[in-house]
Amino acid sequence: MTATTASTREGRRPWTALRLPSPGQGFVHAGGDAFESTDPATGEVVATLASSSAADVDAAVSAAVAAFETSAWASSGELRARVLYSYAQALRTNEDRLAELLTREQGKTLHESYIEVRGSARMTEYYAGLARAVYGRSTVLGPDVTAVVLREPVGVVAVITPWNWPLTLLVRSLVPALAAGNATVVKPASITPAITVEALALLAAQPDLPEGILSCVLGSGGVVGEALVGHDGVDMIAFTGETETGIRVMKRAAEGLRKVALELGGKAPNVVFADANLDKALAGAENAIFTTCGQICTAGSRLLVEEGIYDAFVERLAAVTNGLRVGDGLDPASQLGPVASASQQEKVLEYINRGKIEGTLVAGGSVLEGEGYDEGHFVSPAIFADLPPDSSLIKDEIFGPVLTVQRFASEEEAVALANDSEYGLAAGLWTQNLDRTWRVGRAIRAGTIWINTYHHFYDEAEVGGFKRSGIGRQQGVEGINEFTETKHLNFDGKATLW
Ligand code: NDP
Repeated sequence: MTATTASTREGRRPWTALRLPSPGQGFVHAGGDAFESTDPATGEVVATLASSSAADVDAAVSAAVAAFETSAWASSGELRARVLYSYAQALRTNEDRLAELLTREQGKTLHESYIEVRGSARMTEYYAGLARAVYGRSTVLGPDVTAVVLREPVGVVAVITPWNWPLTLLVRSLVPALAAGNATVVKPASITPAITVEALALLAAQPDLPEGILSCVLGSGGVVGEALVGHDGVDMIAFTGETETGIRVMKRAAEGLRKVALELGGKAPNVVFADANLDKALAGAENAIFTTCGQICTAGSRLLVEEGIYDAFVERLAAVTNGLRVGDGLDPASQLGPVASASQQEKVLEYINRGKIEGTLVAGGSVLEGEGYDEGHFVSPAIFADLPPDSSLIKDEIFGPVLTVQRFASEEEAVALANDSEYGLAAGLWTQNLDRTWRVGRAIRAGTIWINTYHHFYDEAEVGGFKRSGIGRQQGVEGINEFTETKHLNFDGKATLW
């Protein structure tokens, strides 16, 4: 039961490893030891980068502080909008180059890389518009008294990003932070630094962006990330990554009483009722878990299926899953790429081996070997049934192509199973009963509930986590408000004091 072998490497363009930062990329503060990023499909070196020292972190933050205090950035929404619109344009103009680099460094299919690059440009345009509409409010409190509540930028924002959607998750924090008037220092994931630096270079090249408003530091989270989070010049940390790392970031930020926005892990339930359009639900179940090879925080990794349709639905899903083509993301025939790194593959395989002991493997679940696979980190997408409810496969965020299926007999049981998780990031719901969509949609505790669809994101609509999935909201108007502080200017015409 292995997935179909995708085509060989014929036609894959040769690649010359990038050296980053290259001359002219002065926004990158990294003068230390070299490290490499590699292609998870082939093992070839994608880029050689320099890591940042404590002095580099200090230089980046100092530049940000100076730029925030002295440039026109914080006070001119018109300037910010102009720069960000032009940046969105640059992302679009360079989409072929960026999409190829993204696939080479992260492993995802080229199709998905285009979605990511274009979506990042679209989101940048959205926040470019909002840069001119950071509104506070005012209210008259009495004949002589008026309160004006302003929204002001927080100051210097450190943006720390993960590797699974490295452009989207960069833009989703960085661009609203900039649109609100902040100065920023980015620390990308060590697995995907090249795509991040290349995308940032297009922003840094904007002639009207004041020097110091954008900086980047590179290297390990445990050293460079820690130094950034603990730096006295940083006012806020926008972190996207694992829950345990997020907790560590929050504790360290608390030492300096710095503001945090945390987008963390998930273990989303995807609930299929017997009255659903089952063809759509089947496609939705497959998309929900196997997008980005399961390496997505909102992955619908816990499929809950109503008793009466359970056997037939799982059988159909297993057949679809066994037919998925896993291969090099640059090959247009591939539907899933490799997992992003050797350590991620090892983690996924540990869960698969555990699942084989605890439950029933109904699809996939093997390391793919042979031509086109041997140098990469390929796993065939796996489905497990009959697991005990406390199995770590059901409880933990695996962050790989592993789906668990559970059956339920009633709506109440579906809600109870859906909420039986320490996470609360997203959920899917498949039913044609309108009343049920409201009842169950309200009862599930998660930041996003998709009804008869999955993985559709809109720049205008907020996302974020309940429970251990995070603090704060991204996207939408709340996504820019996160990066502001309110200030009350009080005008009181009465002469009396108390
Ligand atoms: P990690 O938490 O391992 O890393 C995220 C970022 O934090 C990386 O840049 C990492 O650097 C850095 N980092 C690591 N340790 C520290 C530290 N002590 N101090 C400061 N920074 C640190 O997550 P992954 O990169 O593995 O990403 C996968 C996780 O991200 C999953 O849990 C997923 O659910 C979550 N995620 C959440 C999303 C959401 O919107 N809620 C969206 C996408 C992903 P380095 O790479 O060098 O280790």
